[in-house]
Amino acid sequence: MPKIALLPGDGIGPEVTEAAVRVLEALDAAEGLGLVFERFAFGGEANDRFGEPFPEETKRGVLEADAVLLGAIGGPKWDALPREKRPETGLLALRKTLGLFANLRPAKVMAGLEALSPLRSELARGVDLLIVRELTGGIYFGTPRGITEDEAYNTMRYTRPEVERVARVAFDAAMKRKRRLVSVDKANVLEVSEFWRKVVEEVAQDYPEVETEHQYVDAMAMHLVTRPQRFDVVLTGNLFGDILSDLASVLPGSLGLLPSASLGEKTPVFEPVHGSAPDIAGKGRANPAAAILSAGMLLTYALELPELGQRVERAVETALKTAPTPDLGGTAGTEAFTETVLKAL
Ligand code: ATP
Repeated sequence: MPKIALLPGDGIGPEVTEAAVRVLEALDAAEGLGLVFERFAFGGEANDRFGEPFPEETKRGVLEADAVLLGAIGGPKWDALPREKRPETGLLALRKTLGLFANLRPAKVMAGLEALSPLRSELARGVDLLIVRELTGGIYFGTPRGITEDEAYNTMRYTRPEVERVARVAFDAAMKRKRRLVSVDKANVLEVSEFWRKVVEEVAQDYPEVETEHQYVDAMAMHLVTRPQRFDVVLTGNLFGDILSDLASVLPGSLGLLPSASLGEKTPVFEPVHGSAPDIAGKGRANPAAAILSAGMLLTYALELPELGQRVERAVETALKTAPTPDLGGTAGTEAFTETVLKAL
């Protein structure tokens, strides 16, 4: 019986998580998945109740679960707290506890919603890519690092196991999708990228069905704008992934549409890309699409049920067309949108 730890969090987090849980419960009832849900305090509200953003009980809960579904954390109420009590500190601790080294961010332009994209519709139509970003290594963590009056330096460093494990996540994802993968680096200038490319090539040998190519990051930035339809899975390191995933995230045209998954050594975490949106919290108008799509990713990547993950995606696509929320120029509230998804399932 798969255990799902729910960390609804702050702001619109609880509203959109509730919507996602309703969708999972509906599939559970129809398919007999035997899902077990347990809720845990996390972020600002955890700090209010337990004096810390990532309490012990939550830590135990996520370690014992098969998957974590997270809403959103943070808000102005907690911004002035000392660093160790801030919701964001809880998020860093959660990532560390679970060893989350791969971040998966799909960017899909839903059929009929091309007009939301900043790209011309003919370029946006059919875009469906997945950025797999290495999350715990590279220049953001490499040593030596330092700054003095006269100079500053950082180190971009990757070890073979670090590249191998994130590459495997990306190739496994490609096997569940269109079986195409592009690895992004700067191998014409950086030794670390030359090494990255070599290790990715080695891992590719184990995935003969995946069509693999390499692109330099500068060229890839252009391709993502001029012909994004060409790509399926995009594998890249921490720095390049940080930039390219933000670039790709604007293609669908709304923050309310973007799910994500973080996979690692222990329990995987699924969460919408958007924040806690305190301005609309409690008003019943938050778009739950990203949270519901995150639940879809949970089915695909944690429970290995990609057909159900795709079913969720199709139902959300239908609801976005027939019951758009205010952030998409529609009038449907969270509840009405979720009902439409449930009907479309
Ligand atoms: P963070 O720093 O946590 O990313 P933020 O306030 O900068 O938080 P978000 O909370 O992600 O960014 O959202 C920015 C704005 O976008 C919100 O204030 C809200 O108006 C809108 N927004 C974000 N997510 C949604 C959603 N799911 N539905 C509707 N509107 C949303």
